[in-house]
Amino acid sequence: MPTWVPGAAGTLFDVDNLPYGVFSLPGEGPRVGVRIGDHVLDLAPVAAAEMLDVHHVFQEGSLNALMAEGHRVRSSVRTWITGLLTEEPERDLVEPHLVPLADVTLHLPVEVADYVDFYASEHHASNVGRIFRPDAEPLLANWKHLPVGYHGRAGTVVASGTPVVRPSGQRRGDPAPTYGPSTRLDIEAELGFVVGVGSELGTAVPHDAFADHVFGVVGLNDWSARDIQAWEYVPLGPFLGKSFATSVSHWVTPLEALDAAWVDLPAQDPEPLPYLGPGQVQGLDIDVEVVVNGEVVSRPPYRTMYWSPAQMLAHMTVNGASLRTGDLFGSGTVSGPAEDQRGSLLEVGWGEESAFLDDGDEVTLRYTAPGTAGGRIALGDVVGRVEPARG
Ligand code: MN
Repeated sequence: MPTWVPGAAGTLFDVDNLPYGVFSLPGEGPRVGVRIGDHVLDLAPVAAAEMLDVHHVFQEGSLNALMAEGHRVRSSVRTWITGLLTEEPERDLVEPHLVPLADVTLHLPVEVADYVDFYASEHHASNVGRIFRPDAEPLLANWKHLPVGYHGRAGTVVASGTPVVRPSGQRRGDPAPTYGPSTRLDIEAELGFVVGVGSELGTAVPHDAFADHVFGVVGLNDWSARDIQAWEYVPLGPFLGKSFATSVSHWVTPLEALDAAWVDLPAQDPEPLPYLGPGQVQGLDIDVEVVVNGEVVSRPPYRTMYWSPAQMLAHMTVNGASLRTGDLFGSGTVSGPAEDQRGSLLEVGWGEESAFLDDGDEVTLRYTAPGTAGGRIALGDVVGRVEPARG
């Protein structure tokens, strides 16, 4: 059934999308809303009026309480919201609680627990290998056996729109390292997966339990200072070159909205170990656009990734590390095989100094996917503008 919400039908935020976010109105506290067209539906008062069992989760300043409810509640809440927005008799109750997007402030949607970032694109990992180690094999020996990742900094995950201050740090120098504002500030266009339901310490999450634990997907920009990163990353991996900011979209797209977007990923060779799942792996057919100062510079396709989201989840828990509500894991830079499909400026400019970001530059990541109604849906944009280094 089409939605009765004015202007929403046929858009990228039609009733088959319904991403969740956290919004506030002037003078009021942040609470949970769902996006339909160019409006936010204020869920708390509608859920209270309809005496929904879980109405309290919409009064929170993050999605964590909603996400922790798990698969069954997630699915029944979505069915309830779909009814509110499509059934004409609901309109009198619901319409007063539709707020134009232009009137709200949007916030970081999730209280981030732990943040892990992977490196799951073979094209990205190979490109980076060729740029940094031109005389060696582009992929290291472990790369096709496990999804390589590192632990990032949860406390510096910020909402889309938050300015990004150029980081300062050490970089390689001759004869000695120097300190100063990064001269190679870059982006990484990624997807982020948000955990709703935690797991028990000491127990691995199997590769086929992805939908039991993951609530939804965000757009993610893993800002990276390549000069700081290049000097520090051996032997323990990225540290200050990435921990200064990670931007995520205001909207969390629930897994149900992406039911039609699952596709086979490229075949894996060699076959991974059994805990990473046998046979064909599945990813999401999400198209990404990287926009710098209003100009599209790249269109990375997520369907070309090597490691699947379910494999990343299985790998990050195989040692018994537990999941918590609000855990966030990034896919790694999404880069396809073609030159115009590269998800970082390091690759777009193939290491040229001029490709990196200047103060004042604005980067927007946009994402679309097939929707369940035959058209397309959008994930939330991820926007960030570079501010000059401080101090
Ligand atoms: Mn990354």
